[in-house]
Amino acid sequence: MGGVRPRHNLVLPSSTTLPYHKAMKNNTVGNLHRWLALVLISVMIPACAHYNPLEDVSLRLPHHTGGLKVTFVGNSTFLISDGKTHLMVDGFVSRPGPPQTLFGRIGPDSREIQRVLDALGVRKLDAILVGHAHHDHALDATSMAKTTGAVVIGSDSVGYIYEGAVGSRNDGGFIEVPHDGLTQRWGAFTIRFAPSDHVSSHLLPQTLVEGCIKAPLKMPAHFWRFKCGQVFALHITHPDGSFVVTTTAGAKAGQFKGLKADVVFLGVGFLSKECSAKQDHYWKHTVQSVDPRTVIPIHWDDFSRKLHRGLKPLPTDDLEAAINLVRTKAEAERRVVRVMDCLETLWMRKGKVIGSSRDPL
Ligand SMILES: [Zn+2]
Repeated sequence: MGGVRPRHNLVLPSSTTLPYHKAMKNNTVGNLHRWLALVLISVMIPACAHYNPLEDVSLRLPHHTGGLKVTFVGNSTFLISDGKTHLMVDGFVSRPGPPQTLFGRIGPDSREIQRVLDALGVRKLDAILVGHAHHDHALDATSMAKTTGAVVIGSDSVGYIYEGAVGSRNDGGFIEVPHDGLTQRWGAFTIRFAPSDHVSSHLLPQTLVEGCIKAPLKMPAHFWRFKCGQVFALHITHPDGSFVVTTTAGAKAGQFKGLKADVVFLGVGFLSKECSAKQDHYWKHTVQSVDPRTVIPIHWDDFSRKLHRGLKPLPTDDLEAAINLVRTKAEAERRVVRVMDCLETLWMRKGKVIGSSRDPL
């Protein structure tokens, strides 16, 4: 594993299925340039970034500490702790920038990981629950697990990332979630991995990470090698509260059948770009099915910015439209919408959100 080895030169992949390789093969340099320009435009274009939900007071939680804690670490990474059992949802804090992600190779940044773990006050974790294998969810899971003694739990594709870093997925540090899901207990927590779906691809780089990882993935690696794999939505219960985390804005019908939750941490990345039928399907099979009092949009920030620079919306998305959509749907059903800042902790007791507190990074 180790630290990041930045590659500043432009590195082209060798797969014959990739569009830029095809362009090279046909010797159409113009096509290659057009393709690269498209990638750059789609990822780096600075869209109207005036809107930031963190500046909306009506979306913020009152100050409080004590109880079951859920700390937001950007994108869809969370620390969940009742003081005895410590869980992480996803494992992504290295947050490599756009040039390195698009044209170099990416891997865990051990210094950044340690900095974030120190800020969270984490020495030991019991488990890291990975929603899917895209780099903005799974990149640091293995490294964090080895630093904290945690077991990594995820799909077969997440297993290949683990295997690429460790050498084997059978060293007791990885639990593979079967296709039809998994229920696991840690301390007072019960965690269900429910088979789910990914949001549609709306940008060229997203299409490159469709499919599954099929061999051990050695990092650092090109971002497009972190294929999605199977998606699992998480349902987590504890005597002090129950919640759902969706690491992407997709859902399978009936994924949470028979389950309720106090809070839904709702992945909203590219939700506003989906057709209304997909938006309704997602809402119905996440929020409406578990009927929470509180909905907290996640996966809205630009995950190519280091956490200490503060959370800003992803410039290629339309977050304002997504928040408006969530607010409209939630308010019609008398639910409360809140947003969380980086390292903000939501405190719950006996099924109620008590408030939040925030640690500096
Ligand atoms: Zn994804």
